[in-house]
Amino acid sequence: MAGSRQHIVVIGAGILGASIAYHLARRGARVTLLDRGPPAGEATGASFAWINASFRNPKPYYDLRMVGLQEYRRLEAELAGRLVVTWGGGLNWDLEEAEIDPLVRQHAAWGYDLRIVGRDEIRSLEPKLAAPPERAIFSACEGALAPVAATEALLAVAADLGVEVRIGDEVSDFLVNQGRVIGLETTGGSLEADYVVLAAGVASAGFAARLGFELPLQSSPGLLVHSRPMPPLLGRVVESPGLHMKQDPDGRLVAGTSFGGGPVPNDPEAEGQRLIDRIKAALSGTERLEMERVTLGLRPIPEDGLPAIGPAPGLEGLYLAVMHSGITLAPAVGRFAAMELLDGAEVELLSPFRPDRFAA
Ligand SMILES: Cc1cc2nc3c(=O)[nH]c(=O)nc-3n(C[C@H](O)[C@H](O)[C@H](O)COP(=O)(O)OP(=O)(O)OC[C@H]3O[C@@H](n4cnc5c(N)ncnc54)[C@H](O)[C@@H]3O)c2cc1C
Repeated sequence: MAGSRQHIVVIGAGILGASIAYHLARRGARVTLLDRGPPAGEATGASFAWINASFRNPKPYYDLRMVGLQEYRRLEAELAGRLVVTWGGGLNWDLEEAEIDPLVRQHAAWGYDLRIVGRDEIRSLEPKLAAPPERAIFSACEGALAPVAATEALLAVAADLGVEVRIGDEVSDFLVNQGRVIGLETTGGSLEADYVVLAAGVASAGFAARLGFELPLQSSPGLLVHSRPMPPLLGRVVESPGLHMKQDPDGRLVAGTSFGGGPVPNDPEAEGQRLIDRIKAALSGTERLEMERVTLGLRPIPEDGLPAIGPAPGLEGLYLAVMHSGITLAPAVGRFAAMELLDGAEVELLSPFRPDRFAA
């Protein structure tokens, strides 16, 4: 896939499309980025945006997420203050008692920076917790960010590097010639491309079906509440039974009930208010806490739970980037995708995650 001034069109201005566009432009490619809605208007804007590599993942996926964590340090340096990550770590006591020791042993053997901490240390890490548990897992290497701000930062730097960002431009079809994608039909007209990157989140499955290959997604919904800004209360991601929460750099507390998804709530506002009440019970200093908004997003999760990254099966000129944990993985996926598209490299770390695994 080599060539230096080829025209690459990226579909989707979520965090993955923004990161891929940025990394391509940083390497000198000519890039157009399209989105039908506002940047980060779908999964990214509804994301909890915890940067982590922890728990219940197969080793290759853990390895990729670890690289994601490390790549954030590089990206922060490159974006020179425009990307803000809160590196407070994660404090977790939302696990079955019997799970804790085996998970800690396994992740410690893999080199993950985690350990069990007792009540006194939990209290000193998070003094506002009303009822610190007897013990929790503290993963010091984890972080979190505000996903809309992070995406906007990537887009701004990408635009500085020459990326044409077309917001409000919807892709309606692909132009295909002799088994190769050569461009797109969009509401703004038709567009020629040497390569197209499909980073359209949950909408990617529909495009795949139209192009004749399988990309089965689970797409589970997730609701979060965002409070009005508060003074500093929480320094890290906290996962307790039925409540995970963090505080963004702008002071807003963000909380949800489960990382696993569930049914779409009948009344999202009422669910948001219930979450605000739970935060008030969990943290002191929150008497004046108020809900600002709720977000409800679909997680773009390939059917087997693992990312789908790489060339589309059976079609030239199309590269896919569809995954959950897209916040954690964005810097790594952006850089690796640019290497694969521009250098013809095949990044070995990505080999378990190729989209052709879904081919019949
Ligand atoms: C509730 C929730 C919690 C999450 N928590 C975490 C977490 O803690 N950590 C983590 O790492 N990940 C988390 N995730 C997952 C993460 O947010 C996603 O993996 C990531 O945001 C996906 O980014 P994306 O750019 O692929 O997709 P999206 O953000 O969905 O972007 C896709 C873009 O494509 C555009 N698009 C679609 N169709 C078209 C079209 N026809 N024409 C033009 N544009 C189009 C859309 O408008 C959209 O902006 C969470 C997700 C949710 C919903």
